[in-house]
Amino acid sequence: MASGPTTIIDLGRLSLAYGEGTRLDCPVRLGPLELGGQAYVASPESFDARLDVSRPANGFAFRLRFPLQFEGPCVRCLEGAALETEVDVREVDQPGVDDEELRSPYVVDNQLEVGRWAHDAAVLAMPARVLCRADCAGLCPVCGESLNDADPAEHRHDTGGDPRWAKLRELNSE
Ligand SMILES: [Zn+2]
Ligand SMILES: [Zn+2]
Repeated sequence: MASGPTTIIDLGRLSLAYGEGTRLDCPVRLGPLELGGQAYVASPESFDARLDVSRPANGFAFRLRFPLQFEGPCVRCLEGAALETEVDVREVDQPGVDDEELRSPYVVDNQLEVGRWAHDAAVLAMPARVLCRADCAGLCPVCGESLNDADPAEHRHDTGGDPRWAKLRELNSE
Protein backbone atom coordinates (compact mmCIF):
# COMPACT_ATOMS: atom_id res chain seq x y z
CA MET A 1 0.00 0.00 0.00
CA ALA A 2 0.97 3.66 -0.24
CA SER A 3 3.37 5.04 2.31
CA GLY A 4 1.93 5.17 5.79
CA PRO A 5 0.96 8.18 7.85
CA THR A 6 4.08 9.98 8.97
CA THR A 7 3.26 13.22 10.78
CA ILE A 8 5.44 13.37 13.88
CA ILE A 9 5.68 16.03 16.60
CA ASP A 10 8.96 16.42 18.44
CA LEU A 11 7.77 16.99 22.01
CA GLY A 12 11.11 18.42 23.16
CA ARG A 13 10.90 21.20 20.60
CA LEU A 14 7.55 22.37 21.98
CA SER A 15 9.52 23.63 25.03
CA LEU A 16 6.52 23.31 27.33
CA ALA A 17 7.08 23.92 31.04
CA TYR A 18 5.08 21.95 33.59
CA GLY A 19 1.52 23.18 33.68
CA GLU A 20 1.71 24.67 30.19
CA GLY A 21 -0.18 23.61 27.11
CA THR A 22 -0.39 24.39 23.44
CA ARG A 23 -2.68 23.80 20.49
CA LEU A 24 -1.43 22.81 17.07
CA ASP A 25 -3.05 22.19 13.72
CA CYS A 26 -1.22 19.15 12.40
CA PRO A 27 -1.36 18.20 8.76
CA VAL A 28 -2.16 14.49 8.51
CA ARG A 29 -2.73 12.10 5.67
CA LEU A 30 -4.64 9.05 6.80
CA GLY A 31 -3.80 6.56 4.07
CA PRO A 32 -6.04 3.53 3.48
CA LEU A 33 -8.50 2.72 6.26
CA GLU A 34 -9.12 -1.01 6.45
CA LEU A 35 -12.19 -2.38 8.12
CA GLY A 36 -13.60 -5.89 7.89
CA GLY A 37 -11.38 -6.69 4.91
CA GLN A 38 -12.64 -3.68 2.94
CA ALA A 39 -10.60 -0.59 2.11
CA TYR A 40 -11.98 2.88 2.75
CA VAL A 41 -10.46 6.26 1.97
CA ALA A 42 -10.76 9.50 3.86
CA SER A 43 -12.07 12.36 1.79
CA PRO A 44 -10.11 14.56 1.71
CA GLU A 45 -7.23 12.23 2.44
CA SER A 46 -5.06 15.08 3.81
CA PHE A 47 -6.30 17.66 6.28
CA ASP A 48 -5.38 19.43 9.49
CA ALA A 49 -6.15 17.67 12.77
CA ARG A 50 -6.31 19.72 15.95
CA LEU A 51 -3.86 18.60 18.59
CA ASP A 52 -3.87 19.84 22.18
CA VAL A 53 -0.74 19.11 24.14
CA SER A 54 -0.51 19.77 27.85
CA ARG A 55 2.11 19.06 30.41
CA PRO A 56 0.77 17.94 33.76
CA ALA A 57 3.14 17.17 36.64
CA ASN A 58 4.77 14.34 34.75
CA GLY A 59 4.87 13.58 31.04
CA PHE A 60 2.29 14.75 28.51
CA ALA A 61 -1.43 14.65 27.88
CA PHE A 62 -2.80 14.82 24.34
CA ARG A 63 -6.16 15.35 22.70
CA LEU A 64 -6.64 14.89 18.96
CA ARG A 65 -9.74 15.99 17.10
CA PHE A 66 -10.86 16.06 13.49
CA PRO A 67 -13.98 15.54 11.43
CA LEU A 68 -13.72 12.33 9.41
CA GLN A 69 -15.37 11.82 6.06
CA PHE A 70 -14.73 8.56 4.32
CA GLU A 71 -15.88 6.57 1.32
CA GLY A 72 -15.91 2.91 0.40
CA PRO A 73 -18.10 -0.11 -0.20
CA CYS A 74 -21.36 -0.77 1.64
CA VAL A 75 -20.99 -4.18 3.32
CA ARG A 76 -24.44 -5.28 2.15
CA CYS A 77 -24.75 -4.14 -1.45
CA LEU A 78 -21.11 -3.21 -2.26
CA GLU A 79 -22.21 0.11 -3.76
CA GLY A 80 -20.24 3.19 -2.74
CA ALA A 81 -21.05 4.58 0.68
CA ALA A 82 -19.98 7.98 2.05
CA LEU A 83 -20.15 8.60 5.77
CA GLU A 84 -18.89 11.14 8.25
CA THR A 85 -18.14 11.10 11.93
CA GLU A 86 -16.12 13.02 14.51
CA VAL A 87 -12.87 11.77 15.96
CA ASP A 88 -12.02 12.99 19.47
CA VAL A 89 -9.42 10.93 21.31
CA ARG A 90 -7.00 11.34 24.20
CA GLU A 91 -3.70 9.86 25.24
CA VAL A 92 -1.41 10.33 28.20
CA ASP A 93 2.25 9.52 28.38
CA GLN A 94 4.15 9.51 31.64
CA PRO A 95 7.67 8.24 31.18
CA GLY A 96 9.16 6.43 34.15
CA VAL A 97 5.79 5.17 35.33
CA ASP A 98 5.45 1.42 35.62
CA ASP A 99 1.83 1.39 34.46
CA GLU A 100 1.09 0.51 30.83
CA GLU A 101 -2.11 2.57 31.02
CA LEU A 102 -0.02 5.70 31.46
CA ARG A 103 2.25 5.09 28.50
CA SER A 104 1.12 6.02 25.02
CA PRO A 105 2.00 3.64 22.18
CA TYR A 106 2.21 6.72 19.94
CA VAL A 107 5.08 8.36 21.85
CA VAL A 108 8.40 6.96 20.72
CA ASP A 109 11.71 8.60 21.69
CA ASN A 110 9.89 11.71 22.93
CA GLN A 111 8.13 12.09 19.58
CA LEU A 112 4.38 11.90 19.15
CA GLU A 113 3.43 9.94 16.05
CA VAL A 114 0.33 11.99 15.22
CA GLY A 115 -0.16 10.45 11.80
CA ARG A 116 -0.24 6.89 13.10
CA TRP A 117 -2.50 7.89 16.00
CA ALA A 118 -4.90 9.72 13.67
CA HIS A 119 -5.06 6.69 11.38
CA ASP A 120 -5.84 4.25 14.21
CA ALA A 121 -8.35 6.63 15.80
CA ALA A 122 -10.12 7.04 12.46
CA VAL A 123 -10.52 3.28 12.05
CA LEU A 124 -11.86 2.98 15.61
CA ALA A 125 -14.34 5.80 15.00
CA MET A 126 -15.79 4.11 11.93
CA PRO A 127 -18.95 2.04 12.35
CA ALA A 128 -18.33 -1.72 12.57
CA ARG A 129 -20.43 -2.21 9.44
CA VAL A 130 -20.42 0.52 6.82
CA LEU A 131 -23.81 0.81 5.10
CA CYS A 132 -24.82 3.04 2.18
CA ARG A 133 -28.00 3.72 4.14
CA ALA A 134 -29.47 2.29 7.32
CA ASP A 135 -32.10 0.24 5.51
CA CYS A 136 -29.90 -1.01 2.67
CA ALA A 137 -31.66 -4.12 1.32
CA GLY A 138 -28.43 -5.75 0.12
CA LEU A 139 -28.01 -8.14 -2.76
CA CYS A 140 -30.40 -10.87 -3.85
CA PRO A 141 -28.87 -14.14 -2.61
CA VAL A 142 -30.10 -15.92 -5.73
CA CYS A 143 -29.04 -13.64 -8.59
CA GLY A 144 -26.81 -11.05 -6.89
CA GLU A 145 -28.79 -8.04 -8.10
CA SER A 146 -29.05 -5.08 -5.74
CA LEU A 147 -32.45 -5.20 -4.06
CA ASN A 148 -32.28 -1.47 -3.40
CA ASP A 149 -33.25 -0.83 -7.02
CA ALA A 150 -35.56 -3.81 -7.45
CA ASP A 151 -39.30 -3.80 -6.99
CA PRO A 152 -39.96 -6.68 -4.55
CA ALA A 153 -43.15 -7.56 -6.43
CA GLU A 154 -41.17 -7.84 -9.68
CA HIS A 155 -38.04 -9.41 -8.29
CA ARG A 156 -38.87 -13.08 -7.98
CA HIS A 157 -37.20 -16.33 -8.78
CA ASP A 158 -39.13 -19.49 -9.68
CA THR A 159 -37.34 -21.27 -6.91
CA GLY A 160 -39.12 -19.45 -4.13
CA GLY A 161 -40.35 -15.98 -4.93
CA ASP A 162 -38.90 -12.99 -3.19
CA PRO A 163 -35.88 -14.40 -1.37
CA ARG A 164 -36.48 -12.10 1.58
CA TRP A 165 -39.67 -13.99 2.36
CA ALA A 166 -38.19 -17.43 1.95
CA LYS A 167 -36.57 -17.28 5.37
CA LEU A 168 -39.83 -16.21 6.94
CA ARG A 169 -41.75 -19.05 5.34
CA GLU A 170 -39.14 -21.44 6.59
CA LEU A 171 -39.62 -20.20 10.14
CA ASN A 172 -43.41 -20.34 9.90
CA SER A 173 -43.47 -23.91 8.66
CA GLU A 174 -41.39 -25.21 11.52
ZN1 LIG B 1 -25.86 -0.73 0.54
ZN1 LIG C 1 -32.60 -12.19 -7.57
